[in-house]
Amino acid sequence: MHFLDDEGERGGDVWPAALAMENFAPEFDLKTSESCQVRRLLARVEQYDRTTWLMQYESFLQQALCVVRSDSTSRRFGLLHADMQGFQVLNRIYGERAGNSMLRAFAAFLRRREEYVCGSRIFADRFVVLFAIPDGYSLQAITDKIVAEGEQFLAEKRRLHPRSHLAFVGGVCPVEGRPESLHSLVTRADQARRSLKPTLRSRGGVFTEAMEICRLQRQSLYEDVTKALEHGGVFFLLQPQVDIATGAVVGAEALARMRTPDGTLIMPGNFVPLLEESGDITGLDFTIYGQVCQYLQARQRAGKALLPISVNISREHFRNPAFVDDLHALVQSYGLEPRWLGLEITESVFVKNLEEISESVRQLKQYGYSIWLDDFGAGYSSLNVLKDVPFDVIKIDRGLLGSGAIAPTNKSIITSVVRLAEDLNMGVLCEGVENASQREFLSRLGAIQAQGFLYARPMSPDNFTSLLEGGKKLLPAGEEAPDA
Ligand code: C2E
Ligand code: MG
Ligand code: MG
Repeated sequence: MHFLDDEGERGGDVWPAALAMENFAPEFDLKTSESCQVRRLLARVEQYDRTTWLMQYESFLQQALCVVRSDSTSRRFGLLHADMQGFQVLNRIYGERAGNSMLRAFAAFLRRREEYVCGSRIFADRFVVLFAIPDGYSLQAITDKIVAEGEQFLAEKRRLHPRSHLAFVGGVCPVEGRPESLHSLVTRADQARRSLKPTLRSRGGVFTEAMEICRLQRQSLYEDVTKALEHGGVFFLLQPQVDIATGAVVGAEALARMRTPDGTLIMPGNFVPLLEESGDITGLDFTIYGQVCQYLQARQRAGKALLPISVNISREHFRNPAFVDDLHALVQSYGLEPRWLGLEITESVFVKNLEEISESVRQLKQYGYSIWLDDFGAGYSSLNVLKDVPFDVIKIDRGLLGSGAIAPTNKSIITSVVRLAEDLNMGVLCEGVENASQREFLSRLGAIQAQGFLYARPMSPDNFTSLLEGGKKLLPAGEEAPDA
């Protein structure tokens, strides 16, 4: 059966709009024998998406599997997972009707294709299509063709909504042998789609085994992180911060670690992005803040001198209007003065919503926290941030130091940052100091602090306590580092 789509064109394997529920009178008796056929028809209607009249995902999976498994020709099949980048913007600017119309047109574009077998709209603007690979085409070649024609189709539609830009994005996966189910292959096509770099141009990609390895690693990491969270395997290490001139330890940074019950250690480079994505990073941060406060409180109660400890503040906190007060309440509950806590906020956090975040930062500063600009120089540094936010310390990113001698351009940048910080009455700490030549250069710049493997690696709080109690200095300027 066919129906006329928005553009008056005939679609493929779709259900007539005339069969929509509202076209049946309420007095229609579904119990009579004549109505049995209608009930079956209605049940079929339920298998279709009312916007595009493509199959619902479950029905698609069944039908596509049936086609693939019963095919007696030598046809090769592939799955396409496609979406339109920029669709949400179109929806926002032109409204739901225009959005739905675009979805129908997109569905019609897919359905009209020669290689189309069957398809479904999974949700929003996400579509999946089973297609037959035409003879003489590789999977990559047919993908390129679909993408090129998809781009052309979207370019033609542009006249209808000139203020939005759409790009065709498609991931493709081969269907080989006689699979038991197609769901995992749809996931693979989706992986290929997600692996594509976001650009304004249309693009397509074919699934590779490397993507599968990556997915498995991610899944295993996710399981490890979940186990560690469930079993309280979150803890922190302290990396000393040193006055370059004297070698005195002046503070430390708390760095989070996770350990699974079977002893696997997970580093922040692995778990932070994962928890940022899942929204659990703020919970982890507060666990660390609580542990750091507990450490400081224990020293305070034992009558020992305190040194400021800095903690990392994830960008996610600034979405929560109660963050500043929650943090302050936590610190107060341990009977600590805010000045013992440094708050490291990475530079990129300020790229978006500078004003709102600056306001929270000002409030934190008013409470008495010391505010640190972390990773300065790692991304696109903006002097606006320094102008608008009253930082106490700028932490120069370790990328500017590099791993050997500091590059001449980077030396000029570091020198300028140190001068600027002096003018703005801010302190400077250089992170990632790894060798004597870096330290020599930095020591000539004035009163700055350093943190890096040359001085000490992150260590347990107990070892940090011993370091403090031993009163040991860590490599004052001019002193030779022992051979590694
Ligand atoms: P960061 O805040 O810039 O922390 C400094 C990182 O540089 C730490 O890595 C530290 O071990 C490493 N590092 C220090 N000195 C050297 C050196 O001389 N050479 C080299 N190559 N590396 C050095 P780590 O502990 O793996 O932490 C990585 C990042 O994870 C941190 O960067 C921070 O952005 C994030 N992170 C760590 N702990 C937390 C936390 O509790 N919460 C949040 N939200 N993020 C955290
Ligand atoms: Mg940091
Ligand atoms: Mg840093």
